[in-house]
Parts: sequence; structure tokens; C-alpha cells
Amino acid sequence: MLPKNAILDGTLRYKGEQLTRSRQKRLRGKEISLIPQSVNALDPLMKSGKQVQAVIKEKRKKAVQQDIFQKVGLSPEAGERYPFELSGGMARRVLVTTAMVSGAELVIADEPTPGLDQKAVHETIDYLKQLAIGGKGIMFITHDIDTALQVADEIVVFYAGQTVEIANVEDFSGKGDKLRHPYTKALWNALPQNEFKPLSGSQPFLGEVMNGCVFQKRCPVAMELCTYKQPDLQEASGGAVRCFDA
Ligand code: SF4
Repeated sequence: MLPKNAILDGTLRYKGEQLTRSRQKRLRGKEISLIPQSVNALDPLMKSGKQVQAVIKEKRKKAVQQDIFQKVGLSPEAGERYPFELSGGMARRVLVTTAMVSGAELVIADEPTPGLDQKAVHETIDYLKQLAIGGKGIMFITHDIDTALQVADEIVVFYAGQTVEIANVEDFSGKGDKLRHPYTKALWNALPQNEFKPLSGSQPFLGEVMNGCVFQKRCPVAMELCTYKQPDLQEASGGAVRCFDA
């Protein structure tokens, strides 16, 4: 999906086995499904109902599509409309229904909520919860930690392209004392309902060479070791953390 000049590096594993290019091709859209970030991912020349029918495996494609539309509050007429005739919230629901009917075991929801009003955010979250209750695995990628906490069991926190912490949802409480990484604590305490405390500085630029910890310039507890050595991700009290101070 990326342009030819994109740099791809690293290893992906799915169900314990390496996710090679050929395995990705086999599973994509079948066992692993994506809810893309932008509603522009919908085909502008195809009616929304037809787009959902295209991923349904059963014979009664139209009936299944209309049934799922009803479940997410879309009228049968919405299926006869082209994407440009739908509101942003309706188009978002069409994208979510494609994941619901795909039969995929893992759904990757890439920032599905930005730009939605609170009602639409709650609706989208409810659909994802329905998928999870139905036994699907959901990977919910977001900047909105508050929304993530409403749906997740486990939160993986990234900073500058690295996993800095893996925490359980219960760890996000009080003043964040159960959280292990200074960045996760800062994220938690920056929320308006907590201390509303901003974290000064900004993330390193893409390609910036850093010898030590990627968070050292903003870290309130950085020490000399952090300036020349990168911490590894280590297991810690039911989660994992990448920090010398944890
Ligand atoms: S390794 Fe050092 S700089 Fe990085 S988060 Fe931990 S204490 Fe802060």
C-alpha cells in the first residue's frame, strides 16, 4: 500500500509465525482486515452498499449488507448512495461495517475516530466492542488515549517509533503511579480530567540520530546513562517498559 520509495524494516509476527509478504497477501482482507484512517479509502465510483457486499462471502450479499447497515443505524437508502453523498459519520460507519462483515479474526482500526463528534466516537467504539465480544482481535491505533482506555485490555505506548511501555488498562488510574514509563505518566497526567499538565519539548525529528534513550531530552528523571545507552524493553509487573529508571 506504500509508495515504492518507502523504507520497510523489521519483522512482523502473527499467531507466532512470521508475517511474510506472501502470507500478508494471503491474509489481507480475509483473516486480517483494516479500518483505514481516512474515509477517502472508499471507492468514489461505487455505491456504498456494493462496496460492503464486495467483502461478504455468503450468497445473500445484499441481505447481509442491509442487516449490518441496520445494526449500525444506516438506512437501506444509504446503501444506494455514493461516498460523496454520505456525511463523514455515515462514511465512517460504512468502513466499520466492511470490517464487521469481512469475517476477519484481526481488525486493525487505524485512527477511526478523529474528526467525529462525541456521539459518533461512542458509536464507533461500540461497533469495535461488538467485534471484540464476537471474538475478534482489535488493534486500535489512536492518539486519543482517553477513548482507547474505554475499549482496550492492554495499551501499547509508542514514542519516536519505539514501544516504550505495555500496560494494562487498570494501570491508568489515580496519579499514574502504576505506570512504568515517564512518557506514559506524562500522557496520563496531561489529560484535562487529571492534572492537565503539558509535557515540554517535542518528539525527535525523523532520522535524528540519538545515541541514548529517545525520550532523554524531555525526561524529568534522565540520568547520564540515558545519554549514551538505549534501554531495552523489559518485562515489568504484568507489562513491559523501556526505561533504566523503572
Ligand atoms: S531511560 Fe532514562 S531518559 Fe529514558 S525514560 Fe528512562 S530515565 Fe528517562
